[in-house]
Amino acid sequence: MTFNPNAGIDTSHVTRRSGGGSLGGRIAIGGGGLGIVGFIVVLLIQSFTGVDLSGLAGSYGGTGSDGGSGTALTGCTTGQDANTNDDCLVAGTADSLDAFWRATLQGNGYDYRSVDTVVLFTGSTSTACGQGTTDMGPFYCPNDQTIYLDTAFFDELRTTFGASGGQLAKEYVVAHEWGHHIQNLLGTMSGLDLSDTGPTSDSVRLELQADCYAGAWVRGAATTKDANGNTYLQAPTQTQLEDALNAAMVVGDDYIEKNLGGGTVTPEQWTHGSSKARQMWFTAGYQQGVGGCNTFSAPASQVDPQ
Ligand SMILES: [Zn+2]
Repeated sequence: MTFNPNAGIDTSHVTRRSGGGSLGGRIAIGGGGLGIVGFIVVLLIQSFTGVDLSGLAGSYGGTGSDGGSGTALTGCTTGQDANTNDDCLVAGTADSLDAFWRATLQGNGYDYRSVDTVVLFTGSTSTACGQGTTDMGPFYCPNDQTIYLDTAFFDELRTTFGASGGQLAKEYVVAHEWGHHIQNLLGTMSGLDLSDTGPTSDSVRLELQADCYAGAWVRGAATTKDANGNTYLQAPTQTQLEDALNAAMVVGDDYIEKNLGGGTVTPEQWTHGSSKARQMWFTAGYQQGVGGCNTFSAPASQVDPQ
């Protein structure tokens, strides 16, 4: 979605940690292992895709590592900045997500707290869920209620995954991770068996709900307002919606297995859902709002649409 150029961007939700080390010396760790992110990781974090990006072709990310400190974003003050700079886009998206979820949860009698921070990093960074790396893709760590994102992933979506790109595809990534924070606030994870995988597993239902929450935010985003009453975002265009659905397609487990992982589709290993399921639940959120996002009570035929 396009930001209202006059919207005021509050950068307090986002920090950037500067990566140390060089961007040049890449190492292909675990080559061939398009394998689903190790189970240890799956149990600890909620990621955007189920793949370890280190096994993918391409020149994604760097090898820099940094400590836990970060610096505030500079140069992000208006929606115009968010329309032209990805760091500012993340900050503006976080502002809108915060306003949307605060109103939605408080309006339904729930407490709401923002994410602690959205950390932009390069290479790797320390997190309360262990060392976070670019290769994990964007993820949410429940232990520190923080979203970790290397904005190089936005390019990777186009170059390696083959997505059409666009602003809403990027915003969808942030909104999906924010959706995991909402699940954390609501206690959705408790009692789930997140070591289980497969098309209708708890893991997949959790991920599809995050996609649905992203769609619900897209539905309401154009009504979210900054401190001065300016709306953050313009309603999505048809092209932007198609870009988001295209992004949802290329991060589907079956698409990744077919196109990036050697061609063998193994549904029993799925952690995030098929392309069709990810698109369907994003759309459910967009069309019905948060009320349409109960992936846990949905029948198997909806969780795994054929
Ligand atoms: Zn996720």
